[in-house]
Amino acid sequence: MKIGFIGLGNMGAPMAANLAQAGHEVVGFDTVAAPQGLTMAGSAAKAATGADVVITMLPNGTILRAVADEIIPAMAQGATLLDCSTVDVDSARAVADKAQAAGLHAVDAPVSGGIGGASAGTLTFMAGGSDEAFTTVKPLFDIMGQKAVHCGPSGNGQAAKICNNMILGVTMIGTCEAFALADKLGLDRQKMFDVVSTSSGYSWTMNAYCPAPGVGPESPADNDYKPGFAADLMLKDLRLSQQAAEASDADTPMGARATELYAEFVEHEDGAGRDFSAMLPRFVSRRRS
Ligand code: NAD
Repeated sequence: MKIGFIGLGNMGAPMAANLAQAGHEVVGFDTVAAPQGLTMAGSAAKAATGADVVITMLPNGTILRAVADEIIPAMAQGATLLDCSTVDVDSARAVADKAQAAGLHAVDAPVSGGIGGASAGTLTFMAGGSDEAFTTVKPLFDIMGQKAVHCGPSGNGQAAKICNNMILGVTMIGTCEAFALADKLGLDRQKMFDVVSTSSGYSWTMNAYCPAPGVGPESPADNDYKPGFAADLMLKDLRLSQQAAEASDADTPMGARATELYAEFVEHEDGAGRDFSAMLPRFVSRRRS
């Protein structure tokens, strides 16, 4: 396939490299990044011209909408616009509507698995779009990832991502505050892990990404809380969840509180640029309020 790839940052660059390595003809564009070994175009429209599939991996919905306005007129009829960024559901649906009105197919397919998964080709894709569009891009998901779930029509991929990451933010906070309480009660962290990881309090944040250094499998906590998954990105996703909850009149009090705590952490407590599990030292350093 001829693939245009727009947005070659931490995630996009390794995803594009995996597609090129699998034999696809990839032409990239980024306003800043210029990864080595990838053919680059001078503009997003040029990268999109003549492509069977154009993949976008961009920071947010506003940028996605602007890039889509530029590339949709340049894309060939019947080609597919595949957005893998994490954006708000409204932007995903608006971009898909515009693409379809121009005779294109559209899939929103945000990912889980982080930079490690992007490099290793083990991402999970959660996709929204028609059956036909999903079938067209499925072979690309198989190269860049290990699993792709078709979640329904346009926007449903973003809906799945936002709900997943709201659970992630809430459970990370729950795990961290429980460790902080265990400390105060004199309970050894390793004992806490041994019990909880095989009891009803277990979760991905405890069992696979334990926020306590030296406990459980290796995680960013063992690397001075270098991300990993930065607290800033967790905050972005939690804010998307609250925007979606507001728009759909859903009651999400735990998601709302997690958003407030990550906002305080990132914006007022030096959490920016730290892994999202650095909530543990944050809780340990505080008193009951
Ligand atoms: P990043 O900031 O490293 O990369 C984004 C890239 O987009 C940058 O290189 C930037 O120069 C480029 N860009 C910005 N505006 C552009 C434009 N108008 N035209 C072309 N290129 C433009 O971010 P990332 O970590 O690669 O994340 C990308 C997306 O993936 C985000 O939506 C993020 O939420 C999501 N995501 C990230 C992770 C992660 O662990 N990093 C995990 C899952 C999902």
